[in-house]
Amino acid sequence: MNITYLDNNATTRTDPEVVKEMQPYFGEFYGNPSSMHSFGGRVQKKIAQAREKVAAGIGCLPREIIFTSGGTEGDNSAIFSATDSQPDKKHLITTRVEHPAVLSTMKNLESGGYHVTWLGVDEKGRLDMQEYLDNLRKDTALVSVMYANNETGVIFPVREMAQAAKERGILFHTDAVQAIGKIPLDTRNLPVDYLVLSGHKIHGPKGVGAVFVRKKSPFRPYIMGGHQENGRRAGTENTTGIIGLGRAMELALADMELKNKKMSDLRDKLELGLLKAVPNAQINGETLNRLPNTLNISFSYVEGEAILLMLDEFGVCASSGSACTSGSLEPSHVLRAMGVPFTHVHGSVRFSLSRYTTSDDIDLVLEKLPGIIQKLREMSPFSEQNEPIGCKTGN
Ligand code: PLP
Repeated sequence: MNITYLDNNATTRTDPEVVKEMQPYFGEFYGNPSSMHSFGGRVQKKIAQAREKVAAGIGCLPREIIFTSGGTEGDNSAIFSATDSQPDKKHLITTRVEHPAVLSTMKNLESGGYHVTWLGVDEKGRLDMQEYLDNLRKDTALVSVMYANNETGVIFPVREMAQAAKERGILFHTDAVQAIGKIPLDTRNLPVDYLVLSGHKIHGPKGVGAVFVRKKSPFRPYIMGGHQENGRRAGTENTTGIIGLGRAMELALADMELKNKKMSDLRDKLELGLLKAVPNAQINGETLNRLPNTLNISFSYVEGEAILLMLDEFGVCASSGSACTSGSLEPSHVLRAMGVPFTHVHGSVRFSLSRYTTSDDIDLVLEKLPGIIQKLREMSPFSEQNEPIGCKTGN
């Protein structure tokens, strides 16, 4: 069966060009980049080139890039750098809709004595700039706001928020894992101290990523040991991963505008087609200021998991808003923060496209999904007149 892969915010297919670039460094050139001999030096050189490519992709200096094991480590290391370097500041600001890589780290700091301001979002998933400004304090150690949300694709005003923090001497971190490669992003006009990206979201390999640390912004090694990454991230480098990440970044930037237009056209076709064909469907998140590849849509009175299972029978891969990353059936914290009603949170599905998505992929979903929803609704014990008793609204 052919796979129709529409779950690219979860992970992406590694580009064959990336695999090709990595291949020789698994077998032929296996030297340790820290070795004195030229066999290792060759790998070191290749890593330096990858660093240049990643740096060029976000408009920074190569030495402002630290390679990591992915987005999660990048987020953790940025947050702990800010707190460890300013032990007297005990206030943090973040949002209720961050990825668990930030949420859990913030909760951990909160239970350790930090005061965390959790910014809410409105029904479209937007932050309130005034609420943010009102919460910036003298003892704020860090603001951490994602560039774009992984579930809804909503893009946050990170530039304005970072500027306000900078004017007050407050460090700013952005998790740009979902934004990189999907929208243009340049650290020369984005006054953040830390920016995090991940290889497997941009058609690179899994288990590799990078954190941008602006020159002069404080950084404390999160993983200690050897002198790799200029003493900022110990451990023998994930050489093949780093090489793949460099190539993936290069490819992501090539013709980005053109690829984005194609992706958003296909996403819009899917969105309009589903809204037209399925009654009681709603889009979650604002539609204008959104990643070009993401569609989060709710179908009332059906379960997202059931939809996914039935789509799976046709080889269609997507995500639901009720099964969170831990695999539990907790409703999505993002949709709950937006105040999406219980009946809609549970029936939400996220489709996320990539540069490989074709018109045929979208046509298949448009052909199969309306019938699936109709069938599930016929089987559902719930109806608009008969809402489940005692269910929370998810607020
Ligand atoms: N941040 C966001 C917004 C993500 O979507 C993800 C992955 O789903 C991560 C962080 C974690 O990245 P990684 O899987 O590379 O650790």
